[in-house]
Amino acid sequence: MPGPIPTLQVALPVPLPRLFDYLAPDGPAPQVAVGCRLKVPFGNRELVGLVAGHGQLDDGQGLRQALAWADPAPLFQGELWQSLQWLARYTHAPLGEVLSTALPAPLRQGDPLPDTHHWGWQLTADGHAQRDRLRAGSRPRQLAELLADAVVDEDVLGARMEDWRGAARSLAKRGLVERIGLSVAPQHAQPLPGPRLNPEQAAAVAAINSADGFQPFLLDGVTGSGKTEVYLQAIVQCLARGGQALVLVPEIGLTPQTLARFRGRLGIAVHALHSGLNDNERARVWAAAARGEARVIVGTRSAVFTPLPAAGLIIIDEEHDGSYKQQDGIRYHARDFALVRGKALGVPVLLGSATPSLESLHNAHAGRYAHLRLKQRAGDARPPRVRILDVRKRPLRDGLSADVLEGIGQHLRAGQQVLVFKNRRGYAPVLLCHDCGWTAPCQRCDAPMTVHGGGRRLQCHHCGARQPAPLACPACGSLALQPQGIGTERLEEHLASAFADYPVVRIDRGTTARRDALEQQLATLGDRAGILVGTQILAKGHDLPKLTLVVVVGIDEGLFSADFRASEKLAQQLIQVAGRAGRARDPGEVWLQTHHPGHPLLETLVSGGYHPFAQAELNQRQAAGFPPFAHLALLRAEAQQLEHANAFLLAARSLLGEQRAVDVYGPMPAPMPRRAGYQRTQLLLSCAQRPPLHALLDTRVPQLYALPEARKVRWSLDVDPVDLY
Ligand code: ADP
Ligand code: ZN
Ligand code: ZN
Repeated sequence: MPGPIPTLQVALPVPLPRLFDYLAPDGPAPQVAVGCRLKVPFGNRELVGLVAGHGQLDDGQGLRQALAWADPAPLFQGELWQSLQWLARYTHAPLGEVLSTALPAPLRQGDPLPDTHHWGWQLTADGHAQRDRLRAGSRPRQLAELLADAVVDEDVLGARMEDWRGAARSLAKRGLVERIGLSVAPQHAQPLPGPRLNPEQAAAVAAINSADGFQPFLLDGVTGSGKTEVYLQAIVQCLARGGQALVLVPEIGLTPQTLARFRGRLGIAVHALHSGLNDNERARVWAAAARGEARVIVGTRSAVFTPLPAAGLIIIDEEHDGSYKQQDGIRYHARDFALVRGKALGVPVLLGSATPSLESLHNAHAGRYAHLRLKQRAGDARPPRVRILDVRKRPLRDGLSADVLEGIGQHLRAGQQVLVFKNRRGYAPVLLCHDCGWTAPCQRCDAPMTVHGGGRRLQCHHCGARQPAPLACPACGSLALQPQGIGTERLEEHLASAFADYPVVRIDRGTTARRDALEQQLATLGDRAGILVGTQILAKGHDLPKLTLVVVVGIDEGLFSADFRASEKLAQQLIQVAGRAGRARDPGEVWLQTHHPGHPLLETLVSGGYHPFAQAELNQRQAAGFPPFAHLALLRAEAQQLEHANAFLLAARSLLGEQRAVDVYGPMPAPMPRRAGYQRTQLLLSCAQRPPLHALLDTRVPQLYALPEARKVRWSLDVDPVDLY
């Protein structure tokens, strides 16, 4: 009788909580199979999975043979492999889906690890001959000058010139430059010197440098206090010790300016990882990091999956930022996962923010994070003066009071710039029928559509649906349709007519679809007196030395939200936007226009700043049993029919059973009960300690997949949800 059959246990990107056994493919196998990609048949498809272990089956019935190896050696190994297994356990997601989320698309699809040897550019003979005829000051001319004497490595070009690739492409098309493979490592540019650190900054850098192994730091510094300088100095030391540095930045923080500052100051290639790159570029950076060639990687959320064989330091800038939490698929939190990796790698992890999350503050207070404070603005800049403008009973014109308009005029006439912040894009949040109260609802969501195009178009900000605005009310036929409320477009329209002599530039997600669009729009304003109107996208990015007045309109909606994190988010937003004022020598002012001047949130923020606010908020969270004093998991279900979603959650609820330690609430409608045509309900699990919650999920989540009710719904589990939506 034949003995047991050896198999490969493969993690596949399918929504099933298990590994799959395959026979090894024909032909030579890698020495170490675990961590290698393998192409396998699955149903009538071909999938790329990762070998997670070796197994044995007594019965080979139905066992299929894998098609081919996709790697000669493990793609995942060591710390990253272990950490990703941890992530799969922690998020209770299938390992195969976690691993595939961690890979750039080409690798996920089975492409070989891309080549990362060095490339350089040189002028051709024609290029040398025509160099002087290129238009002076143009990018192609700039590039040609850089190449005048020698071949220049691409990494070095990246450090010396922004967006050199575009110029290289256009010159290559004309036969003036060519790309050649290089055998030697690049010569790096001379790093630019930084400012002399002030004592608080120097103490922070010294603390980070003296960390021995894993140590979390919370760099808690007011806006403009020079946190980025601390990062740069810490990175310089990390590089000097031969370490790799990973820097995570929020989606809106990764600007060409940020990268240029890092490149200039470090004098070596800084590898960017963000959504603006194409898949092959991402895969190249991933490979360069895996080979230890990329020494500094700056990226957004998913850059937390970068392999770091020579890790020395991990930095999370603006650690409170919501974009670090992935809201679909594998719902990981990049900050939290970075901490897990830092611990496994034995390197310091630096969380920086002017408005730390309550979670991080709580950890700092409890002594789990070393708390580094920067209380002063760096250089000459002084903190802005904050004023609350009570607009009760004051007539508002398109949302602006006469005082505000007067103040804006004064700053403009003094040659300064003004930022008007409103966290609502579009023209108006609602189109209202004045006669019957109809409010243009989205057909697929339980929410009104936003008015755009000065009143001509409607758009749903939840599902993306668009349609022309009706001319008459569909409910009663009346023509009295009026945009209600204020969005950035409406503010722009009003300000442009009230201050016709000054440029008004609107910046929100509608106008900055492309990554560098924000920079270009800010550049159109330059140093001229003028007005910026925009959403929180303006809270971060480009330094605006001429900006002396920040006006915040329409914060009132945020003061009374049901979401337990709403106050925290609002306070962070206000402080971040306010931080844009007075970055230079001219003192800045911040005006908050509100109907609730006595609201405790505003009073605490204005009189004491973020920390007293945060402390009060932490006390409330503790009293109410909310995070960080409780640990949550949210089981969401959506279906076209509400009964199906509820049936699944009821079945889930009885599966979860009566647990003493874990409270289960629901099923209850999601805060947005219908979106994109789906009815949405949820079950909330809460527990004062993490272990009992995870112990329960460990045993029960695999059983959820098997519930017959699961077939009729889309469901997901969100551990540590940031939004209860
Ligand atoms: P943050 O990241 O905290 O917002 P930055 O590091 O961007 O602050 O610093 C804000 C501004 O202050 C920058 O223009 C920076 O060059 C400058 N700066 C930072 N540290 C110093 C210092 N020690 N001396 C003088 N200027 C500084
Ligand atoms: Zn009507
Ligand atoms: Zn919608």
